Amino acid sequence: MRKVLLCTAIAVAGILIAASAWPALQVDADFDSGSIGTYSIDEANSTISLTLRTETLVNTGDTYTYWTHFRVTGALGRTVTFRITNAELVTFLKTTAHEAQMVYSCDGENWSRLTDHSYSGGVYTFTQTFPCDEPRIATFFPYPYARLAQLLDRVAMGPGAQRTTLGASELGRNIDLLTITGTAVPPADKKVIYMVGRQHAAETAGSHMIEGLIDFLLSDDVDACGLRGYYVWHIVPMLNPDGVFLGNTRATSESRDPNRDWHDANTESAGTNLARAQANAVKAATGIDWFLDWHSQIDDGRWHNFIYAPPGNTIFPHISARTDFDSQNTSGTSCTASSCSSRGYATLRLGVPMITVEPSPHLVSWTVETLRQQGVRFAFALNDYFGLYRGAVLPALAPQLGRTDCAGNCEGDTDGDGDVDGTDIAALIQNIVQAGCAPPRGPAKESGKN
Ligand SMILES: [Zn+2]
Repeated sequence: MRKVLLCTAIAVAGILIAASAWPALQVDADFDSGSIGTYSIDEANSTISLTLRTETLVNTGDTYTYWTHFRVTGALGRTVTFRITNAELVTFLKTTAHEAQMVYSCDGENWSRLTDHSYSGGVYTFTQTFPCDEPRIATFFPYPYARLAQLLDRVAMGPGAQRTTLGASELGRNIDLLTITGTAVPPADKKVIYMVGRQHAAETAGSHMIEGLIDFLLSDDVDACGLRGYYVWHIVPMLNPDGVFLGNTRATSESRDPNRDWHDANTESAGTNLARAQANAVKAATGIDWFLDWHSQIDDGRWHNFIYAPPGNTIFPHISARTDFDSQNTSGTSCTASSCSSRGYATLRLGVPMITVEPSPHLVSWTVETLRQQGVRFAFALNDYFGLYRGAVLPALAPQLGRTDCAGNCEGDTDGDGDVDGTDIAALIQNIVQAGCAPPRGPAKESGKN
């Protein structure tokens, strides 16, 4: 009898040890692009209740609540439930008809969706068992300030890239310009593309697309060489680095929406001032053939990718053909001293055609890699529109060689004489060589749409 009791006591003690073996849960967001509102930890029930920060923009009066990015410590092997208690302020969390899913990561690089979630009575609840001790949780794949610094350090070493620091943000962070182009084609024969990104701090999808675009343009792919050769790519990848670092949803460090401060008379946002001045300098020096602004619509109730584009444009069919952006909004824009976006400024002050890219992070098919690839596809769509670099069709030409039934409709019939023959190939090779690039050898590769 005594022996049995002893065994029971040991077993109970074992259970107690196991139950208390969990290290205490801790939460923090004190890092680059981190953000959390108030929170409390119910250790006994492995539950963390939290709010998302709400920010009010001083120049528009608008309020936004949706960005969060925080770290949980003590989570290894533990099933933790999270309760966002101000989810009634967050459209994508409370709209249960759509599969809005936040993300988590064990290493800050590879992200998974939080699929076990529900919404009820203003509370968004999600539960996850973590395979690591310090997972990070975020609204969407983060893109911190430090990641851009790593990208610029990486690519500025390569040929064809020039990094220029335009100036400093309100808090002293660099606002950089990356110019990518080749040297073989005379400047007068090039088209000039001007891009800005990350005006809005939490719109990270745009940053991943820009990163993919930059990495591709500076790669040794023959098409990248061709796109460098015939175009000048001026890219301001992060106009609002302070807001990004501070984990803001939209604002600068001064609580301003930098994408309403583009009018010349408005000098309140440092990043906007620098990008606007640079755009004017480029316009005066070489002209700008297309302006492109990368955003991401997160919480305005739209669940699809779209672009803002000029009314009556002919670029949209190329974008739709190349990318997963099959919807355009061609509504007009305005630019007044009290409110002027880059779209209003480029269109009405610079007189330059422009698109604003608005991926929806709620499409669960997105990964960091698919976002990066979409950025590349926008470069091809712009080239399809301008048509300067024609070598991209060369790999697809081989199966068509010998055709005589084109009547001007075959992609490989570059001289439009109805057939695909050596003359067409010679013209494409000449186009590639003129860009200072070596024509590809070996099997064809696909560069079409997903
Ligand atoms: Zn935006």
